[in-house]
Amino acid sequence: MSGINVYAHYAHEEDYPDLDYDSACRRLAAALSCKTVDCGEKTDDAPFERLHALVRASYPHVTEASSFEEVGRNLLITCPGTDPSLPCVLLLAHQDVVPVVPGTEKDWQHDAFAGDIDETFVWGRGALDIKDMLMGELEALEYLLTHGKRPRRTVVLAFGADEETASAGATRLAALLKERGVRAAWLLDEGTTTMIDGAMWGAQGRVLADVCISQKGYLDVRLDAHGEGGHSSNPFGGSSLERLCRAITRIADSRPAPRLTSIVRDTFRALAPHIAEEPLSTLVRDVDGNAEKIAALAATRRELFPFVATTMAVDMLQGGSAAPNVMPGDVSATINFRLLPGTTADDVLAWVREALRGTGVTATPVHYTPAGRMDSTVGAGYAEVAEALGHYYRDVDVVPSFVCGGTDAIRYEAVCGSILRVIPFRPTPEEEATGVHGVNERISRRTYAQGIRVLVRLLERTVL
Ligand SMILES: [Zn+2]
Repeated sequence: MSGINVYAHYAHEEDYPDLDYDSACRRLAAALSCKTVDCGEKTDDAPFERLHALVRASYPHVTEASSFEEVGRNLLITCPGTDPSLPCVLLLAHQDVVPVVPGTEKDWQHDAFAGDIDETFVWGRGALDIKDMLMGELEALEYLLTHGKRPRRTVVLAFGADEETASAGATRLAALLKERGVRAAWLLDEGTTTMIDGAMWGAQGRVLADVCISQKGYLDVRLDAHGEGGHSSNPFGGSSLERLCRAITRIADSRPAPRLTSIVRDTFRALAPHIAEEPLSTLVRDVDGNAEKIAALAATRRELFPFVATTMAVDMLQGGSAAPNVMPGDVSATINFRLLPGTTADDVLAWVREALRGTGVTATPVHYTPAGRMDSTVGAGYAEVAEALGHYYRDVDVVPSFVCGGTDAIRYEAVCGSILRVIPFRPTPEEEATGVHGVNERISRRTYAQGIRVLVRLLERTVL
């Protein structure tokens, strides 16, 4: 994935010369100094309150034009448009950041919460995930308002406080919007953090930016096998652990065939002219006609496998015997499934229970977040987001995709026409790989400024 020189793709960096990027970087640094880590019930309110105060103080025009609501630690900022009949635009980001991994503190060149800034970078936890987007969205709106540009369309900024943990804040804010009858044409939330090497999709030499219009589902299923224990000299019928292992094998062996969702079909269609390697090149000339073959081929490649399969990872095993000559009692295993958009928990449970038939092993779902709705490349906002990305990132193919993890965005499906998960900031793949949830998280001033330009242009073309 490395080797992409992102800066070679930056274009139109001369736009908005009167935007004070220096000050914008300092404001971001101040936001990074707020240690907004969510710890459930033990969460410290103070850093969140500091961040809220900072937002109010830093963006006077936004503050004057908008209503600020603190819903718990979550923040809802509504800048009313002059035409209330238009559906609004929702800009998302989360305030919370993941903690520094214990033991890695000394690996940080700058303290993760110092809010340090140098000639090149703004340093700190949250620089890429995702206070750059939170502050960048405010910078863009402030810029428009400073120039006397009043949005026709209402702009709502919704900043949850626990995306990295429970995502309860987003659920709460979305419910509030729904209750008020607020309807958004589209929303913008985080997605992939950097540019993608097109080789992943068979398009060698191309660089991609993806707009994620769905997300995979999440399902944990616990398998239980009953055991009586006892001496292992007569394991008639197999020990509970043996039966559990057989059951797991049966589930793995009966996994559904890989398939192409409508989104991945569109990804391949968009890239077809650039795919030179065979047999993919020939197959993608008729994506629908060759969907099964393309899916089977994609499933053999590590990077594409999660995009064409509902995956299963057997992650937990509990209850084995403590001695080699004693059979275990009850044992259990937990499988984590990641569901392709369009696949439900019922689909997975039907597969699992069919595989378990006659084994005596039971399956119980323990945690489930459904896959996202599949939005469309012709849906509201997609073309405008693609245009803004294309304007500032030269020779980059903007393609639809979906995220394999989860974000807050899914909570807003009921109030939103189309959900676009895409980060306007494009750091280097190395910065993304080491910084996000890792060490030395930082964003270059240049990357931050370019992302703000994307957001200003996007707002200019959609809300004015
Ligand atoms: Zn995030």
